[in-house]
Amino acid sequence: MASILIPIGILGGIALFFGTFLVISAEKFKVEVDKRVGKIIEALPGIDCGACGAPGCSAFAEGVVEEKYPVNGCKVGGQEVADEIAEILGVEAGEVMESVAVLRCLGTIEVANRIAEYQGIETCAALDLLGGDKGCHYGCLGLGDCVEACPFNAIIMKDDGLPYVIEERCTACGECVRSCPRGLFELIGKEQDIYLACISKGDAKEVKKVCSMGCVGCSLCARVIENEIITMDGNLPVIHWEKIEDNKLLEPALEKCPTKTFIRRSEYV
Ligand code: SF4
Ligand code: SF4
Repeated sequence: MASILIPIGILGGIALFFGTFLVISAEKFKVEVDKRVGKIIEALPGIDCGACGAPGCSAFAEGVVEEKYPVNGCKVGGQEVADEIAEILGVEAGEVMESVAVLRCLGTIEVANRIAEYQGIETCAALDLLGGDKGCHYGCLGLGDCVEACPFNAIIMKDDGLPYVIEERCTACGECVRSCPRGLFELIGKEQDIYLACISKGDAKEVKKVCSMGCVGCSLCARVIENEIITMDGNLPVIHWEKIEDNKLLEPALEKCPTKTFIRRSEYV
């Protein structure tokens, strides 16, 4: 009998030792969860789009509590979510600047020359790896990776071969920006109506050969507007949005651009 009791006693002692050790460790190393994080996660849209700069909604919620991200940093949630988060944290929300996605290419089937017939995998990413099927190596490939990527069905592909943003549905989540292998989408402030719809860095001769609506880099737009609101990066004009209080400032560029590559967002539907 004693021969059975001794091992049982030893095993019981070991179990008691490790059990006590685990309880003490759990207590000692337990991570305090801030209840505000959970409440903020509930307030967020939960689509993990990453437009705020965090890898997902939970990371954003934690980051806001730790003051790594601004209270009004969720673009998809907009003002309503910012106000809710502000209430949870007992701070001011501040104003959420509303943005919208725009396509920076006017190379429809009609105006941008095709130089090859592609018969591979039907994605822009695959076509881009082969250099595209148009003469322009900057322009839209037209296979709709952006349409697939948009979680809000805010992009449609039209018969002219280009994607169009339905602004009422666009939440500025930035998925289209990340999905386009050519970097053709940009998020701009909703109050900005005029923008340059081309990202080609080619010179006039190269651009004219491949697209009749592309920017030829003449720099007229930069010269007709004061205060370096537009500067040239090689052949491509760069708009300094931070200097523009009133979008009317870009009207002269819209009027003078010889290729009509500056366009009005409100007319591009
Ligand atoms: S993916 Fe869709 S909703 Fe998001 S920014 Fe682009 S167009 Fe707007
Ligand atoms: S904008 Fe970019 S992702 Fe969308 S169809 Fe054109 S190349 Fe493809």
